[in-house]
Amino acid sequence: MKITFFSAKPYDKDFFNRFNREYGFELEFFETHLGPHIVNVIDKTDAVCVFVNDKVNAEVIKVLAQKGVKVIALRCAGFNNVDIEAAKQYGIKVCRVPAYSPEAVAEHTLAMILALNRKTHKAYNRVREQNFSLNGLLGFNLHGKTVGVIGTGNIGKAFCRIMLGLGCKVIAYDVYEDPEMLAKGVTYHAIDELLPEADIISLHCPLTEQTHHLINATAIAGMKKGVMLINTSRGKLVHTAAAIEALKSGHIAYLGIDVYEQEEKLFFKDLSESIIEDDTIQRLMSFPNVLVTAHQAFFTEEALEQIATTTLQNVQCLLGDRLPANNNAIVA
Ligand code: NAD
Repeated sequence: MKITFFSAKPYDKDFFNRFNREYGFELEFFETHLGPHIVNVIDKTDAVCVFVNDKVNAEVIKVLAQKGVKVIALRCAGFNNVDIEAAKQYGIKVCRVPAYSPEAVAEHTLAMILALNRKTHKAYNRVREQNFSLNGLLGFNLHGKTVGVIGTGNIGKAFCRIMLGLGCKVIAYDVYEDPEMLAKGVTYHAIDELLPEADIISLHCPLTEQTHHLINATAIAGMKKGVMLINTSRGKLVHTAAAIEALKSGHIAYLGIDVYEQEEKLFFKDLSESIIEDDTIQRLMSFPNVLVTAHQAFFTEEALEQIATTTLQNVQCLLGDRLPANNNAIVA
């Protein structure tokens, strides 16, 4: 049985080849994104394995069905880039990796908060030039601050535990109140109550029709002046133009993003020799109080191991007409 991978990077090949020894699939890797431009390249395969920026729309799914593909396996948690209705219509099963080391993303969120707050990136460069001055590096204690967490699923909960451990007050907004979080002292609020209370706001909900541009000009206006906003979830949760206006006015004092609205054309690529045409990302990167990382929050040894094993198990089960152990792995 064969799995065809898209958006495959050297580390994907390394981890999947390593863990496939137990499963014995034939693996085929394409570095390019899956999309209408490339879908015809697929030849006699049972499953396609895709990542966050592959475009698996109805047009692509129709061709996949014609080519006899039975499973679309996402090697990530989010599935906003797959047309689920089209997959159901063409009888293709869709699976994902619902939780792969949520701590990886939660810990990266903390790393972004600390870097922005204590300006570690600036200090690193400064001392290398023998500038040992502290001017401009003033930070604030996280202890005692109020952290607003939007989405307390696997990652949001791991992040809440970390911030509670640092002595923060943690308030949350989710469509579902998690009993474990309530027991730990997290309180749930409507979003318009959470926004003005929080010193730091971190997004951990999925991208859906309801959450698209959840953080727009109105939401930002409702936040505390001087707020720190962190998005390690999906770029389209934040209306980037509104965030830029708020950075210019100083309403947002710190912005950390591991995801970006237009990231498909940029992230996961070495563009160091190219001219970047996206003026919005260039504007964002020109702010001294903005930290951009290129969708690396998940990128740990532990997470890659779990992604590879769960994806291979999912495909093995679905091609064998069995359900994977974790029900949440099935999207369609
Ligand atoms: P999860 O499904 O465990 O949790 C999502 C939470 O969001 C749930 O508690 C759900 O009730 C809540 N939610 C859903 N709709 C909501 C809404 N309209 N308003 C408020 N809350 C809502 O997912 P997870 O594993 O915690 O991942 C969260 C997101 O993180 C994923 O959807 C993905 O987009 C992103 N992610 C990013 C990276 C990265 O490397 N940057 C890696 C993995 C996941």
